[in-house]
Amino acid sequence: EDRIISANLMMEDSVAEFSLRPRYLSEYIGQSQVKDNLKVYIEAAKLRKEALDHVILYGPPGLGKTTLSNIIANELGVNIRTTSGPAIERPGDLAAILTNLQEGDVLFIDEIHRLHRTVEEVLYPAMEDFALDIIIGKGPSARSVRLDLPAFTLVGATTRIGLLSAPLRDRFGVVSRLEYYTVDELTYIVTRTADILEVGIVGEAAREIGMRSRGTPRIANRLLKRVRDFAQVRGDGVITTELAQTALSLIQVDNLGLDEIDHKMLRAIITSFAGGPVGLDTIAATIGEESQTIEDVYEPYLLQIGFLQRTPRGRTVTPQAYAHLGLPIPDQN
Ligand code: ADP
Repeated sequence: EDRIISANLMMEDSVAEFSLRPRYLSEYIGQSQVKDNLKVYIEAAKLRKEALDHVILYGPPGLGKTTLSNIIANELGVNIRTTSGPAIERPGDLAAILTNLQEGDVLFIDEIHRLHRTVEEVLYPAMEDFALDIIIGKGPSARSVRLDLPAFTLVGATTRIGLLSAPLRDRFGVVSRLEYYTVDELTYIVTRTADILEVGIVGEAAREIGMRSRGTPRIANRLLKRVRDFAQVRGDGVITTELAQTALSLIQVDNLGLDEIDHKMLRAIITSFAGGPVGLDTIAATIGEESQTIEDVYEPYLLQIGFLQRTPRGRTVTPQAYAHLGLPIPDQN
């Protein structure tokens, strides 16, 4: 899936994202409530010379969960070890990671909802008592031995908090939800990134990009890079408002950040199903996409901006969406 407005990490992002990542809380834009709370918890942990309580960060992709986990380690002045749920295949893999941590370190597990159950069970005593229970021997002579681990902080990230098992979720002291960013915040992020990339951009152009970024910093940075290409090839390198508008319409991202596939999906529900309600699987079949992709990638933002509604009988397109597409709103009776 290679939509420019996808919030998922793509190849071209991963190379460049590292240098764009803010490194301290003071550089991390927005999410003020999450930030303010973390600031206190980090300060308190440092004063007590203890490991910070375990933290879970959840919210849609591209909102800054990985960035924030790195910042937490930085602010604590400790090392971070990064892995992901599906990457830890066996309990022994996790045991190896845990025994290699140093006192106070951060262990970041991305996509933590995808941990294997057997691996998850190793995590419970590790989180609760900083201990590792290992079984020695086989059959009737097998016995369990408890090893001490250094005190550490687990930072988990997930796009699907609902899929976390209750025992795992209960072991996090800090549960923080990241929100979509405002246009002002995204505009600021675009300006900051342009600065780092050393590309000139006028304020209004930064706003044009911010507006079309679907509340997501990863998309804002990606759109900026595409627009920069146009500025270098078709202009004199500086991103003016007009250039940004032209580039963005060539990229086919509309003024709310919707692309061709969003349009196709909304139109399909309107023309083939009278605006809904219609089931997810039916929509998927109609536009030739997978239900899971629609649910994870396309739908969250359309729900967020109130263009789609989820009802018990399926998805419904709202009057705002009709208006945005320039279609007559049907009679409600
Ligand atoms: P996630 O882990 O939630 O998918 P990331 O942490 O990888 O998201 O963030 C994607 C990119 O967006 C980062 O490389 C960073 O440049 C940018 N970014 C995210 N949050 C912020 C923020 N609050 N301020 C500035 N840039 C941000």
